[in-house]
Amino acid sequence: MPAANGPNASEGVLDYRKAVEVLKEYERPDGLSIDELMDSKVRGGLTYNDFLLLPGYIGFPASAVNLESPVTKKITLKTPLVSSPMDTVTEHEMAIHMALQGGLGVIHHNCSPEAQADMVRKVKRYENGFILDPVVIKRETTVGEAIALKEKWGFGGFPVTETGKLGSKLLGIVTNRDIQFEDDLSKPVSEVMVTDLITAPAGVTLLEANKILAESKKGKLPIVDKEGNLVSMISRSDLTKNLDFPLASKTPDSKQLICAAAIGTRPEDKDRLAKLVNAGLDIVVLDSSQGNSIYQIEMIKWIKQEYPNLEVIGGNVVTREQAAALIAAGVDGLRIGMGSGSACITQEVMAVGRPQATAVHSVSKFAAKFGVPCIADGGIQNVGHIVKGLALGASTVMMGGLLAGTTESPGTSFVSREGKLVKAYRGMGSIDAMQDKRAASGGKDSQKSNAGTARYFSEGDSVLVAQGVSGAVAHRGSVSKFVPYLAAGLKHSMQDCGMTSLKELHECVANGTVRFELRTASAQLEGGVNMESYEKKLFA
Ligand code: IMP
Repeated sequence: MPAANGPNASEGVLDYRKAVEVLKEYERPDGLSIDELMDSKVRGGLTYNDFLLLPGYIGFPASAVNLESPVTKKITLKTPLVSSPMDTVTEHEMAIHMALQGGLGVIHHNCSPEAQADMVRKVKRYENGFILDPVVIKRETTVGEAIALKEKWGFGGFPVTETGKLGSKLLGIVTNRDIQFEDDLSKPVSEVMVTDLITAPAGVTLLEANKILAESKKGKLPIVDKEGNLVSMISRSDLTKNLDFPLASKTPDSKQLICAAAIGTRPEDKDRLAKLVNAGLDIVVLDSSQGNSIYQIEMIKWIKQEYPNLEVIGGNVVTREQAAALIAAGVDGLRIGMGSGSACITQEVMAVGRPQATAVHSVSKFAAKFGVPCIADGGIQNVGHIVKGLALGASTVMMGGLLAGTTESPGTSFVSREGKLVKAYRGMGSIDAMQDKRAASGGKDSQKSNAGTARYFSEGDSVLVAQGVSGAVAHRGSVSKFVPYLAAGLKHSMQDCGMTSLKELHECVANGTVRFELRTASAQLEGGVNMESYEKKLFA
């Protein structure tokens, strides 16, 4: 709208109708339509940093923005954020916490099928508040070892079972008090543990279990099955943390968290998939850097025939032609991106790929004609990139590096040479990941997987050609704070654009109501911080 002191102001008051009329005199709305922006015949491929969205009209609070969006034909998320199937990003912890926040975690496959199925099971069995994989010890464990475990994990109170594992007969509990003042560190815990136990039966609700725990005045409440085997536990210190997760991604029938996992396209991946499905898998992601292959097309057809209820996401693709082949084979979702990942050197080494903004626009526009939702995968470095990926037509975005620094990614933080708190992050096509037999599955997994090499069609090669690097990313705290920050930022951006939902955003981009502007190199500088020194704190 023209300003109040514009050409048609009368006594400082805006004549709105006149302003609208003057606007009509212009041939086109201000800025560029999506097609004008993306006219690659003129400019070449665009990245997220090459353009901006123009503001619209704000007539609602940011909290009113609806972020619901489909990730596959049948499954919709309340938060359109997905964590990447990489061995430094998504194992069960990440998958559980992404799902609790309304997003989705895709469990990596750089581990044995058994280890991956175990992780799927943990996500499906997760119940808010129940500890499904408590640290369990056996009666022969010494007091010294129990103290060391307490120091390692930062908590005490270990259940003691017959075999020292979950699923075996519960014998007692060793609490802090039992070991704190014990001088004889070689004494077995069976001599100090508490055997007079209060337990709750398997199947108990969290509410009931919390009540029993509160009345028992104990620190931990073991949950046991009919035979007295330990199945899970709840902890007093968690009581206050057992908040509700209203956005959680759950299947409507079982109310279990939705779980996705990645596999390759080799014949043995069929056996892997059987184990994952048996563990309760909802979505399978076919993990390949170049999805348009005979292997993937045949795999999609086979899965759709063998497991008609399983949602299949194919990829990766960056062109309409690649997408068409996978859509024709029957995918329920597509993953877009080749060479845009933060740990990726594909474009440099292979000279193949596509700038991500152009890839997302081109593929999503095509896939929308068939009702196939797209994931914009890779290159997301901030909230703005998320908004742009979605505005270009993706239904969700997938992140690797941005989530690798959170508490829920595999591995522990460490202090870098520069004195910063960081976590390891590596491309699945890095030499490290391709050679790694054990990946990041807690060292439990001794079976080689070759997921890294398979993603890049390099199994059996005598020379491994890297398409990724390994390094570290900044520590970012917990997903339970970081993902709500990303979602809140996304809502504010949508508000600036005048869009109340992602559905509306897609419609208004397509019909030309949402406008764009290209950014020159100096415009990009202008949009950054220009100060002598500053601290970049992103949320509080
Ligand atoms: P990021 O969010 O920018 O870190 O990108 C994550 C995405 O990069 C993943 O979801 C994969 O699609 C892609 N990716 C993972 N590892 C590699 C690699 O080694 N080379 C190329 N791309 C990779």
